[in-house]
Amino acid sequence: MSITVVGSIAYDAVKTPFGERERMLGGAAVHFALAASFFDRVRVVGPVGDDFGETELQVMRDREVDVSDVERVAGGKTFFWRGEYGWDLNSRETLDTQLGVFEGFAPKLSEASRSSDVLFLANIQPDLQREVRAQLPAARFVALDSMNLWIDIARDSLVEAISSVDCVILNDAELRQLTGKPNLFSAAREVLSWSSTTGSSPDQAHSPDGARGPSVIVAKQGEYGAALVTRERFFSLPAYPLESVVDPTGAGDTFAGGFVGYIAAHLDDDRAAAEQDRLPDELLRAAMAHGTALASFNVEEFGTERVVRLGEAEIAGRVAELREITSFSGVPAIG
Ligand code: AMP
Repeated sequence: MSITVVGSIAYDAVKTPFGERERMLGGAAVHFALAASFFDRVRVVGPVGDDFGETELQVMRDREVDVSDVERVAGGKTFFWRGEYGWDLNSRETLDTQLGVFEGFAPKLSEASRSSDVLFLANIQPDLQREVRAQLPAARFVALDSMNLWIDIARDSLVEAISSVDCVILNDAELRQLTGKPNLFSAAREVLSWSSTTGSSPDQAHSPDGARGPSVIVAKQGEYGAALVTRERFFSLPAYPLESVVDPTGAGDTFAGGFVGYIAAHLDDDRAAAEQDRLPDELLRAAMAHGTALASFNVEEFGTERVVRLGEAEIAGRVAELREITSFSGVPAIG
């Protein structure tokens, strides 16, 4: 299986109570790709300006991420984001967003990127997410992330983009903002009811009426973890307990990389489910654990600094610890 991701490839300026970086490699697609590369082959689609360094591209190549669809726009400037965190890292203020080369970008995907079975539409303008979605009509699993900015200024386009995917990964507060529902479950139910027949082929359909639309909702809850809502089930995991968190930037995208990467690598493990285009519950739960483990490494240092030094055994270790801290015995205490 292979994964195509479109989203921001960026320079970030970040200030947290534990330090600051003025210009570091960032972007939703970059954080996603580095995390997903532990599970499967990843192809990144997106533009950079001629200010983007070879060293930064090499960070992705070193994890065997395919960057041949990263388009260098002559005379253009790379996407830039500046953010600052409050004392407990729970609040974040965006101080500057410069779309740069993303303004007017028309994604042209190579044959290889169009043939991926799994697509992740990382956080970027919803119009762009839809353009890329339309170029992979036969993808078997498509997930999408977004943020409050696009809910504020491009909601209609975002709703249309969401109707053409299988999985939506959003911050808890953004899920409520998007739907206008104050409750997590009713907000998730609302998104689960959005479907469309555009951009999908009937034989790839996940719902009985032949329409494509989200069947998996993940609500990211920052330091409290993440919740998974499907039509039938609910599952929730806390974040991996850490005493030292330095920079949460990219945690959501790193979670998504672990989650989607794990699903891509195991899509065909259960043959019967794969034939019916079903995602088994066990697969989704294990994917949640891997996303959670990956995100926990990301926040230990600035930007991509920790994830680029990460090893598979470390990931497996934290997944095992997560299993341990979330299990309990069923012996009844009463009765
Ligand atoms: P996260 O902390 O998971 O929300 O992701 C932070 C990353 O998203 C940073 O590396 C930024 O470069 C990128 N980012 C911030 N704002 C935007 C935006 N409006 N569109 C796309 N990417 C963004």
